Amino acid sequence: MKNQKVCPKCGGADILIVDGEVRGYGTGNNIMLGASIFSAVEVDRYICCSCGYTEEWVNMRDIEAIRKSKKAHR
Ligand SMILES: [Zn+2]
Repeated sequence: MKNQKVCPKCGGADILIVDGEVRGYGTGNNIMLGASIFSAVEVDRYICCSCGYTEEWVNMRDIEAIRKSKKAHR
C-alpha cells in the first residue's frame, strides 16, 4: 500500500495516509521504546477507503532504534 498505492485486500486505489505522531504522554500513533516520548517511533498508517483495511509503516531510519529496544523480540 505504501509503495504501490493499491489495497492488497480489495485492489482499491483510494488510499489515505495518516502520518504517525508523538504527543504528550506518548499519545498519537507511535511505538514507545522507552519511558520517554523522545524514545518513541512514529508509525504512519495507510487506510483503504474502499474496504477499511489499514497498514502501518515505520521509517527505515528508526529500525536500528527498534532493533536495540528491549521491547522488540522475535
Ligand atoms: Zn481495500
